[in-house]
Amino acid sequence: MKLILLGPPGAGKGTQAQRLKDKYAIAHISTGDMLRGEIREKTPLGIEAQSFIDRGDLVPDQVVIDMVRLRITRPDCENGYLLDGFPRTISQAETLAEFSTVDAVINIDIPCENLILRISGRRMCRGCGKAYHISSYQDDRCESCGCELYHRDDDEIETVQRRLQVYREQTQPLIEYYSRKGLLIHVDGDQGMDTVFENIVKALGL
Ligand code: AMP
Repeated sequence: MKLILLGPPGAGKGTQAQRLKDKYAIAHISTGDMLRGEIREKTPLGIEAQSFIDRGDLVPDQVVIDMVRLRITRPDCENGYLLDGFPRTISQAETLAEFSTVDAVINIDIPCENLILRISGRRMCRGCGKAYHISSYQDDRCESCGCELYHRDDDEIETVQRRLQVYREQTQPLIEYYSRKGLLIHVDGDQGMDTVFENIVKALGL
């Protein structure tokens, strides 16, 4: 099964992706996590990507396309994969169609005004990437793997505003793009994460 998760920053894509990965035994491919890994390891790709990420801009299409194209050849992708944060532009989607089929695109819908609050209180695990919100979890360590939680630099308010603008301009058109292909599933993301997950599973019908 090959799935795409669409939605603005802070919609809960990462959280739902973890659960979908476990339920369907497919690989979770997050281009954001992969890029943060490259930055951590100070690879040439990470050094190139960092300035784009720090500004809240997208890294160049070719960089993420090459990353994903290679990633899906790994053995853990044999049973399928879930793309989280990719594609983010029409051009990425068109290139993806040249090297992979897609079974469904899940769009997590959420009003933009709720996103700033969600993102500004968000903390991520350095180990497994799990996201927490300060209002419901105050510990400094991840409950799953015990690693340290941190606030992403690009979750600062100015950068978030830019990321939302970039989302509206470059990523939102993908909703129409995949809707025309008959692949789109809409899920209301403005509910508890268990309900969102149940609705995704129901909509997938699997
Ligand atoms: P995310 O963790 O998905 O919010 O991604 C964090 C940042 O990584 C984004 O704001 C972009 O700068 C970059 N990024 C992640 N995925 C992509 C992509 N598919 N295309 C371009 N840039 C990306």
